[in-house]
Amino acid sequence: YGDYNQKIDYVFKVVLIGDSAVGKSQLLARFARNEFSVDSKATIGVEFQTKTLAIDHKTVKAQIWDTAGQERYRAVTSAYYRGAVGAMLVYDVTKRQSFDHMARWLEELRGHADKNIAIMLIGNKCDLGSLRAVPIEDAQEFAQRENLFFMETSALEATNVETAFLTVLTEIYRIIS
Ligand code: GDP
Ligand code: MG
Repeated sequence: YGDYNQKIDYVFKVVLIGDSAVGKSQLLARFARNEFSVDSKATIGVEFQTKTLAIDHKTVKAQIWDTAGQERYRAVTSAYYRGAVGAMLVYDVTKRQSFDHMARWLEELRGHADKNIAIMLIGNKCDLGSLRAVPIEDAQEFAQRENLFFMETSALEATNVETAFLTVLTEIYRIIS
């Protein structure tokens, strides 16, 4: 019976948002399946992936939603945000514009989501250090001002990916329990 018989205590919906090509789908692939693909196709069809883990001796099923090529401003529908208790706001540390867009993604998120949502700002592709276009201090300052968690990650090298998701999931658990 194994996992099939496992009692789920909580299901937490977490949404990934941010510009196209910042690495949202690869972060999810890394977290859910420990996979990475260099030539990832724009996400089509798949709405979410799940990963079951233990937090404080409870069984939590994380249901992580990925945008299906709807990253244009305001193209993400309210159904995407509905019921989300966590969010990952992702930019690419080598693309300044993707960071500058964080403010409006955050505004859109706050307009749709629950008041108590746990939010993590993620600067992905930190393996590309020589191409960095966003100083870590800029992101820290934004995160502090907006009261967000913040971490730099690499889906490619699996740096901080698990930690970032676990931080958000643990915060959600703290909020609801
Ligand atoms: P999405 O549009 O936000 O879902 O972005 P994808 O996950 O499809 O990734 C876009 C491109 O960036 C792909 O070519 C990935 O292989 C690449 N990519 C994603 N994460 C990383 C990373 O951490 N480091 C590097 N160097 N490339 C990455
Ligand atoms: Mg994608």
